[in-house]
Amino acid sequence: FVSVQLVSRAVQQIWRTPQSICATRGYLHACRSFSSNEVKSAVTPAEITTTPIPEITDAFPHLQTHESIHKFSLEQPDEFWGRLARSRLEWQKEFQVVRDHDMEKSAFRWFPDGQLNVSVNCVDRHARQHPDRVALLWEKDEPGQEERVTYRELQELVCRMGNVLLECGVKRGDRVALYMPVMPLSVAAMLACARIGAIHSVVFAGFSAEALASRVQDAGAETVITADEAVRGGKVIKLKQVVDAAVAKCPTVRQVLVASRTGAQVNMGPKDISLEQVLSSASTECPPAVQNAEDLLFLLYTSGSTGSPKGVAHTTAGYLLYASVTHKHVFDYRDGDIFGCVADIGWITGHSYVVYGPLANGATTLLYESTPTYPDPGRYWETVSRLGLTHFYCAPTALRLLLRYGDDWVLRHDRSSLRVLGCVGEPLNQEAWHWFHGVVGDGRCDLTDTWWQTETGGIMISPRPSAPGAHINAGMPMRPMFGVLPVLCDPSGKVVEGKRVDGALCLGSIWPGISRTIYGDHKRFIDTYFAPFPGHYFSGDGAYRDEEGFYHITGRMDDVINVTGHRLGTAEVEDAMTEHPEVSETAVVGFPHPVKGEAVFAFIVLKEELESSQENIVADLKKLVRSQIAGYAVPDEIMVCPGLPKTRSGKILRRILRKVAAGQPDELGDISTLADPTIVQTIVNIYNTQH
Ligand code: ATP
Ligand code: MG
Repeated sequence: FVSVQLVSRAVQQIWRTPQSICATRGYLHACRSFSSNEVKSAVTPAEITTTPIPEITDAFPHLQTHESIHKFSLEQPDEFWGRLARSRLEWQKEFQVVRDHDMEKSAFRWFPDGQLNVSVNCVDRHARQHPDRVALLWEKDEPGQEERVTYRELQELVCRMGNVLLECGVKRGDRVALYMPVMPLSVAAMLACARIGAIHSVVFAGFSAEALASRVQDAGAETVITADEAVRGGKVIKLKQVVDAAVAKCPTVRQVLVASRTGAQVNMGPKDISLEQVLSSASTECPPAVQNAEDLLFLLYTSGSTGSPKGVAHTTAGYLLYASVTHKHVFDYRDGDIFGCVADIGWITGHSYVVYGPLANGATTLLYESTPTYPDPGRYWETVSRLGLTHFYCAPTALRLLLRYGDDWVLRHDRSSLRVLGCVGEPLNQEAWHWFHGVVGDGRCDLTDTWWQTETGGIMISPRPSAPGAHINAGMPMRPMFGVLPVLCDPSGKVVEGKRVDGALCLGSIWPGISRTIYGDHKRFIDTYFAPFPGHYFSGDGAYRDEEGFYHITGRMDDVINVTGHRLGTAEVEDAMTEHPEVSETAVVGFPHPVKGEAVFAFIVLKEELESSQENIVADLKKLVRSQIAGYAVPDEIMVCPGLPKTRSGKILRRILRKVAAGQPDELGDISTLADPTIVQTIVNIYNTQH
């Protein structure tokens, strides 16, 4: 270990040299043993001069650096966002007013007197300019069967779909639930809702009938769009059957439109309409509805890591502007790029960075139907190579999984087309960061760890919001996006100033992409996001502002552990333990302790092939935490398990592990959002045999 630390110091000397980090296996090993403190001390100052960004510097020639753009966007938001909204979006009626906010009521309006149609902005204007450019690049579950949809074809499909919805009596403001595979028709259905002014609510097509029914009911949807079946990772999911079971519990549903994905024979009842049939006879012209800027575009129920799902509501203009600006500037998107975001359309990442952001920018965007390991753990990189992706945006959970299988699955595929890598969903631990950057990106691609939420609509903190050329530190999102003012608060609600401080991560400004309400429950919106720290939006996460003013996410505030008065973020302890070469994933929680108040309980998943014994690994892990953080952070218990309980979007559900660690396996609460509920029983059994 000591020698590795020495190597890592040597690597620090060349930290800033492009391609130096993790470019080879030797360095990679050294990188893996970087502690977060070492990484922090190896960075350059924040006040770095960066290359100008054309769009911003054309509009505001005096703004040349990230710092100056960011400051201006906060000081003169009307000027900043007004200018971008005019240049980036096509309006049916131009707005006069940029913002109209009532903080008392937590009511925010952007461009309130403007009118535009989202589908025109995402499709028609590009079909006019470059009809034959590929809009959707559909990577189907089976490799090598990709299909391409041009902007002209997408426009036709959206119009047909819009006409079908109109014929079915769907009106402006109606909610339409989508329970669909990742396929072009699903994107067309989302955009068709926007075209006629209906509000879509996409439910991830992996949720149970129960979960679907509760979301359909909450939204009061009368129309559901689904498909016969979905295929994911070689497995067939019988979507129509799930919808039938859900609809039986939803008296509001009048009709179910059924698309064909596999062509399977499915039961068609009186409410069911075969989509293919009606689509083929529908007209390819559908005049866009005139939408007010603040009309709702969609509802999206959050993944439910922390409690009962909330119908997060997003609007037409502000959301679209924010998605398009962040897609362009966080990822340095350029014309001709092939943007690869592998999120499912059922999550906000799929909405903002598969559909709305890229299409608003006239991009070619990937629709990824499969899993990270089908048919083998090289699938992502084989896709990159075959399709020539320039960007690859994914979740830390997938990286931690793939890392277990070794580098060969990556190295055998050509990744030279890649320019920018990105990650979202959970803290990206150091080991996964270095693997993604060094092995996948050959140490030459920018890697941007993006922090944001369903509620924020788009990326809030990430290394490259307008800072091309700026240094990127491993494992932290670093810099706020334009118009975003991160604020840290202490438990008493006081704003924590200065550097080297942590606190509840709040936002002190209102940006165009912020959710406007929780559907049907504005009080819950206020109580959840604005009441805890008055005058601020409270994210629910904790963050640390380092000595250079950069932001690190420390985990969810609910998960903070308090050991003898020391507040410990889960991310920090997990990050330290995951650096162990034989550990693949970890989750730490607090459990009641008679002396310390709370003590640390660590659940760990080991890699495939092990050289050390479990006892040695456990002992190593304790040493690692002691040396990298402090003695009080050392777990009292470390339990090896085959997997961790995760939501369907791949996030670790620590609230369930907290109950296990506290010896209360009968009080697990709602586990319906778990991808694999059986893992909970396995973990409980292991716990019981050891206690
Ligand atoms: P729910 O709100 O229903 O509990 P959720 O918070 O998991 O579900 P999302 O909106 O999909 O739903 O996820 C946002 C959360 O994901 C953030 O609040 C944060 O906890 C975590 N997150 C997202 N990106 C990052 C990141 N780059 N680093 C650390 N955490 C992240
Ligand atoms: Mg959340």
